[in-house]
Amino acid sequence: ASHLVWFRADLRVHDNLALAAACRSSEVEVLALFIAPVKQWQQHSMAPRQAAFLLSQLNALQQSLAKRGIPFIVKPVDDFAASIDAVREVCETHKVTALFYNYQYEFNERQRDAAVEKALSHITCQGFDDSVMLAPGSVMTGNHEMYKVFTPFKRAFLRRLREELPECVNPPGVRTKALPDKLEPITLDYPQQPFDTDLFAVDEKSALVRLQQFCQDNVEHYDTQRDFPAIDGTSRLSACLALGVLSPRQCLQALLKAHPDALEGKIGAVWLSELIWREFYRHLITYHPNLCKHRPFLGWTDNVQWSNDRAALVAWQQGNTGFPIVDAAMRQLNQTGWMHNRLRMIVASFLVKDLLIDWREGERYFMSQLIDGDLAANNGGWQWAASTGTDAAPYFRIFNPTTQGERFDSQGVFIRQWLPALVDVPTEAIHSPWTWADKEQITLDYPRPIVDHKQARNETLAAYDAARKLL
Ligand code: FAD
Repeated sequence: ASHLVWFRADLRVHDNLALAAACRSSEVEVLALFIAPVKQWQQHSMAPRQAAFLLSQLNALQQSLAKRGIPFIVKPVDDFAASIDAVREVCETHKVTALFYNYQYEFNERQRDAAVEKALSHITCQGFDDSVMLAPGSVMTGNHEMYKVFTPFKRAFLRRLREELPECVNPPGVRTKALPDKLEPITLDYPQQPFDTDLFAVDEKSALVRLQQFCQDNVEHYDTQRDFPAIDGTSRLSACLALGVLSPRQCLQALLKAHPDALEGKIGAVWLSELIWREFYRHLITYHPNLCKHRPFLGWTDNVQWSNDRAALVAWQQGNTGFPIVDAAMRQLNQTGWMHNRLRMIVASFLVKDLLIDWREGERYFMSQLIDGDLAANNGGWQWAASTGTDAAPYFRIFNPTTQGERFDSQGVFIRQWLPALVDVPTEAIHSPWTWADKEQITLDYPRPIVDHKQARNETLAAYDAARKLL
């Protein structure tokens, strides 16, 4: 007998439910597979930085699987449709008797898995809810509906965790003889952009170290530091969670080891809450597959007359809007593939509510740059900011980008880090540098604001109001 583990967004050997299940019996041969649907990645605007991160993890995974006696097959194909044939082919060649995989909750992925199970009707297929602490469907309202609001979802979620904590499963032991250490490096035929290995773990081992360090040393300051982009106060584990180099169960267990009262609202509770947002959005796309199809949660918001101003979109993308906190944030994104959460909210709000540009443009651009690009979280974040989502910011609440900058980067430390043109602007002028420069008769090598916030705000309110009237 031979078992095949199909890896997708679960690139780790620790606490991997499908891998553990496939290896449970010592009698069988176990093989691992990764399929790279490169055209599909292109269509979904996968960031070259995420591709480089993925490749690094694939090579590390190949090593750790080899040490355990599990060969790793990597197959490039065009798209999901072609992956079905690729799996079938591997199953035939290696006389596979059972297929193990961890569920993905995105619409296309679910369609693909259903088609694979159909095509492999003679093989036992087993799927696992591995990328979440609690499976979609297990945290529902009294009427067995998915929650639409986060707070009651979180309350029910915490209740479930207190009843029974999801445990981590062990990595598989060594099977038969270990494979040779010298392995052919894996390559991917997809554009890549190097990532900063000090900021993002290159392999599973360093991801686990980062997680433990964060839980031991930083979680207790998270509540007070997480909103300030100049401080390195968040875990930066999102890229690992997006590709499953870490599991959320590992995060939970590491957190509780360092702070056993996190479930009771004590130290660590705020970080746990962010992990629950991640689960919320995963559960949501499972129950509302339209979210994966570029649809807003609130249908009426599709009546908003978005602006087609390409120049404004490009200015936003390149960090040339003339609003320092927005521009610094976009440059952080473009240069590192990551952006601080507070800034993601600010720049998303700016694109949608100051430039009145369709949130889907922002969603797509983020995917094309983010090392942690994740459909559920990204879509959730964009729909929250655009007020098109469930439990989103109400549409009439519009961030003022200047006061956001003043509140969350009061000294301009973050701004100066990313906008060298503003290094010499005095702190009291850093959030509106042109007002100061004009008075001082200085010319800055920095764009003037591309919109007037007050006016833009009124236009946006009018556009949403008009859309709602068409309801
Ligand atoms: P921490 O603050 O340390 O949080 C721990 C983990 O919790 C994160 O790694 C992440 O997995 C999860 N998490 C935290 N906040 C959220 C949230 N609001 N929603 C869902 N999960 C969360 N996150 C992504 O992983 N991928 C995305 O593509 C993505 N796009 C976003 C787009 C917008 C417009 C917004 C507002 C948010 C987006 N987020 C996304 C959520 C959040 O900004 C990032 O998860 C976070 O900044 C990652 O940094 P960290 O790992 O240091 O997070």
